[in-house]
Formats: sequence, structure tokens, C-alpha cells
Amino acid sequence: MRDHDKSPRNIGPNTQLVRAGYDPFEYHGFINPPTVHASTVLFPDAGTMEQHGQQYTYATRGTPTTDALCDAINELEGAAGTILLPSGLAAVTVPLLAYLAKGDHALIVDSVYGNVRHFCDTMLARFGVEVDYYDPSIGAAIEELFKPNTRLVHTEAPGSNTFEIQDIPAITSVAHRHRAVVTMDNTWATPLYFRPLDFGVDISIQASTKYPAGHADILMGTVSANESHWRRLKQANGQLGLCGTPDDAYQVLRGLRTMGVRLERHQRSALALAEWLQEQPDVARVLHPALPSFPGHDIWKRDFKGASGVFSLVLKGSRKDDFKMKAQAFLDGLSLFGLGYSWGGFQSLALHVELDDRRILEAPSEGPVVRLQIGLEDVADLKADLERGFQAIAGIQ
Ligand SMILES: *Cc1c(COP(=O)(O)O)cnc(C)c1O
Repeated sequence: MRDHDKSPRNIGPNTQLVRAGYDPFEYHGFINPPTVHASTVLFPDAGTMEQHGQQYTYATRGTPTTDALCDAINELEGAAGTILLPSGLAAVTVPLLAYLAKGDHALIVDSVYGNVRHFCDTMLARFGVEVDYYDPSIGAAIEELFKPNTRLVHTEAPGSNTFEIQDIPAITSVAHRHRAVVTMDNTWATPLYFRPLDFGVDISIQASTKYPAGHADILMGTVSANESHWRRLKQANGQLGLCGTPDDAYQVLRGLRTMGVRLERHQRSALALAEWLQEQPDVARVLHPALPSFPGHDIWKRDFKGASGVFSLVLKGSRKDDFKMKAQAFLDGLSLFGLGYSWGGFQSLALHVELDDRRILEAPSEGPVVRLQIGLEDVADLKADLERGFQAIAGIQ
């Protein structure tokens, strides 16, 4: 018998992605886990039932399929436990509900995913939680924003749409001195390129909708906790009754197996296009953390192992009143780039970014901001498509 249980130690990230979370010999050697559709779980006798004396008791609390995914995510994140949620947005809102109560104060990064801001300003406000937004470049100076009732700091790096990098170790050490929990939306980097828990974050969040699923056809989120915060997260999830479906869990685990090679390709193509875009006469700036010209580049380089395929460019030279018109002309000039929101799939996407919900950060003044997701197409074709976009705005001042 070969020893199937023991994975060799110190394996690389792609080897880990191939093996994580499921042992084929737990299910007859089939290399992928079974998709268990269930609500009811049967018990062999009344005594076992009274004691909940078996691994599975009710499918909202997990099945072999959802466990295979959660175990894989635990390995990748270095986490004590992971919960599945029906979307990436829920993966941010559920920890906020789990760790905040009436009278608490939370610090939320100003470059946060927009729908999270909306949740904070509406539902959290209604529940009596006070929220302040902070500058993503604040670092250790976040200490000045702490109040006696500050219980949580939410981070996201790079920030949505404008890609500001945060000094996560500086923020976590201040937060922990004040006994606050630190949550991080790590959707852009995935645990392959940044492992939040290794940098002191307590709760690592991923919209698995994006790179883990990878094919623009699944909605799911994961929340992974360190040892000290896992119990409360799991409890909150049980109280709310949220869970991931078996089919989606299966598909996300399937996507994870190839995420490493897809990310390498997204990274390489995106960086090549970002560098090329910097040189284009119609472009004022490119917002991509792996470019040395980007303000947070040094921290990105210190902490991150790679960059994914989403970044923004600022078009040059139009009057503020014409930003929208110019952005729309550029987008309508593209044909390979789809116009769509949810990135992380195989196809390249573009959209005009509106930044008018920001409280602290100023939107770039040079021109409209266009966010690109670089998909798996050939770079030369994408370059030609972007050139069509520039042709479409020729003559618009
Ligand atoms: C897309 C996204 C989400 C939300 O994911 P959904 O599954 O679409 O709800 C959350 N955070 C970030 C950073 C995202 O890009």
C-alpha cells in the first residue's frame, strides 16, 4: 500500500492546488469528490442521534463536497476554519455581522468594494454600528482613528477599482493592541499571491466567484478564520443559516485546481498591457500595483508574491463634464473586451469606474478611469482591441 494520507511537506503552490482538500481514497479512488445533494442525514440509531455522534448531522452544517472545498481553502489560507457563502458580497457582510454589535465602531477602508460601503451605510447603521472610512495609505497612523469602542478594521488591498495598497502588518499590529479584529477582502491577490493570515489578519475573505471559480459562471464566497476567531465565525454562520450549494462547491474546487496556471497567465498578460498602456499618448496614468510608478508599489513588492489581471487606466485630457462621454466612446470602440462587472473569468472585460461614493480619496482629475480585467486571450489581439478604443476617442478633447 502506498501511503496516500501524507502529502510531502514544503510542496509548491501549484502542487498544493492539485492536492488540497480531498483524498481520493476516501471515496473509492475517484480523483474528484462526489457531489452530495442533501438536506437530511440519517443516523443508525436513536443514541447516535441524541448525541449528534457522527461527522455529518444536517446538510446546512456541511457535506463531504463542501468540506472538500473548505479543507482546500484552509490549506491555502493557513486557516483554522472556512465557511462558504452564496456570494463574495455575503463573504464580507457576514463577518461584519459576526463581530460587530450595537454601540461598536468599525473602521472601513475608503477604497472598499462599493457594495460593502452600501451595507455599512444602511444595515450596519440601522443596527447601531458606527462606521468611519479611512485612507488606504494610512498605515500605523490608523491609531489616531481608534475609539474606545473600535472593534473591527476592514481592509482590502489592492482597493477596488483604484488599486491602492495597504500596509497590512502595520494596521494589524495597531488593531490588535486595541483588541480589534482585522478582516481583509483578498479577492484580487487570492491566497496564492498574498496570505492575509500570515500578515496578522484574523479573517481572510475571498469572492470565489472570481479567480477560484474562474469561468464567470459561479457565485460563491469564502471566509477563513485564524484559531482565535474561528469559533465565533462558525457560530454566526450557523445562526444565520447560510451555506454553499454542493454543485457550486464542486465547481469552485474544480476551478482551484487550475487557478495557479490561469493566474500566471493573467499576471503576465496584464503586466505586459499595463506597461504598454503607460506609453500611450491618450493615457495619463496606469493604476497597477506591480508598476514601479504606482504609489503603493514598494509595499506590494514587500508583501505580495504576484499580481493578478485587474487594473485601471486613467484616460488623458478631457473636461470633467466630458469624462463619461469619453469613457463610453472608448468602451464602445472595443470589441474583444466585454462590458461587464464580475471579473476573474477567461474573457477580458472593461468598464468605466465611477468614484463619486469615495469619502476621503479624490478621483483622478486627469480624465475618466477605465478598469480592465485581462483574460486568457492573446496579448497581441487585446492590444489591437485597445488601439481600436484609442481610435474611437481620437479627436475628443
Ligand atoms: C466581486 C467582488 C466581491 C463580491 O463578489 P460577488 O460574488 O460578486 O458578490 C467582493 N469583493 C471584491 C473585492 C470583489 O471584487
